[in-house]
Amino acid sequence: MRIVALAGGIGGARFLRGVQHAVPDAELTVVVNTGDDTTLYGLRICPDLDTVMYTLGGGIDAERGWGRQDESWKAKDELAAYGSPTAWFGLGDRDLATHLRRTQLMLGGATLTEVTASLCERWQPGARLLPMSDTQAETHVTVTDPETGQRRAMHFQEWWIRHRASLPAESITLVTHNELLPAPGVLEAIHDADVVLLPPSNPVVSIGPILQVEGVRDALSSKTVIGLSPIIGGAPVRGMADACLTAIGIETSAEAVGRHYGSDLLDGWLVDVVDAGVSVPGVDVRAVPLYMTDVVTTAAMARSALDLAGV
Ligand code: GDP
Ligand code: CA
Repeated sequence: MRIVALAGGIGGARFLRGVQHAVPDAELTVVVNTGDDTTLYGLRICPDLDTVMYTLGGGIDAERGWGRQDESWKAKDELAAYGSPTAWFGLGDRDLATHLRRTQLMLGGATLTEVTASLCERWQPGARLLPMSDTQAETHVTVTDPETGQRRAMHFQEWWIRHRASLPAESITLVTHNELLPAPGVLEAIHDADVVLLPPSNPVVSIGPILQVEGVRDALSSKTVIGLSPIIGGAPVRGMADACLTAIGIETSAEAVGRHYGSDLLDGWLVDVVDAGVSVPGVDVRAVPLYMTDVVTTAAMARSALDLAGV
C-alpha cells in the first residue's frame, strides 16, 4: 500500500509512528511543512522536518516531543551570555550539528530535498521525507507590538516560542518571494498514493502551508483523503493551535476544523469519541479515540483512518 501523509512536527510525527506500527509494509511518503523554517546565526533550521526525522529515526526526546534525546544546551547558554537577541530559540548542542550539516550541504549547492535525503541516510526513518517545497516560504504572524503599539509582522517562531503565542494574531500568512513550487516527488507521490492522510497536525501553520503549494490541492482532489482532528473537546491536545485558528476566524472545535478542510479536500474525518455527533457536509465522519498516548493506541488511530478510506 502506498500512503502519503502531510505533516507538521510533533502531532504529525507521533501519528506517523502509529502508521508505521499499523502497516509496517506500507510505502510511506511524508510531505513536511517548511513554513516554520528559519535562518539563525546563518544556519538553516527546519523544525518540522527534524521532528519527523528524529521521531521516526529514534533520535527524538520523547518527553519534549522535539529535539534530540540526551541533549545539552551549552551553546545556547553561551549565546545567551553574549546577549544574543535570538537566544530564546531552543538550539540544543546535538541538534546544532544537524543544522550545521544541513547548511554545509546547502552552501555546497544542494536543495532542501537533497539535504533531507542525505540527513535521512543517517536516521533511516523508514519513510521518504520530502519538504513541501525547495522554495523558501515563511509563516509570518501580524500582531500589535505591546511596546510600540504598532502593527508588525514577525516570523512564526518568534511569535510561537518567544511570545508563546500570547500576542493576539491578527493574521497568519505564508510569505514567499518566488512561486511556491512543490519539491520534486511531491505531486508524483500524491498521484501514486492509495490514500492520503492528514495527521492531527496544526491546520493553520502545518497543514495549511502544504495546501498552498502549487498543484497540491489539485493533486489531492482525485484522491481519498482522510484527516484526523488535532482538536478534542474544543481544545488542542498539545500546544496553542487555538491561537492560530482564532487568527483565521475558525472556532477551536473538531467540527469547525473539519468544515474548514471541507468536502473539497476530505473524504473522511476522524474525531475523538467525545466529539461524536460532529457533522461535516459531504464528509464521512467517524468518532474513535484520538489520544496518542502510546504507539499501540496511535496505531489503532491509523488503522481507523485506513478503514475509513477503505484500503
Ligand atoms: P508542531 O509542528 O510541532 O506544532 O506539530 P503538528 O502541527 O504536527 O501538531 C500539532 C497538533 O498536534 C496540535 O494542534 C495538537 O492539538 C495535536 N496533537 C498533539 N497530540 C495529540 C494527540 O494525542 N491527539 C490528537 N488528536 N492531536 C494531538
Ligand atoms: Ca511546526
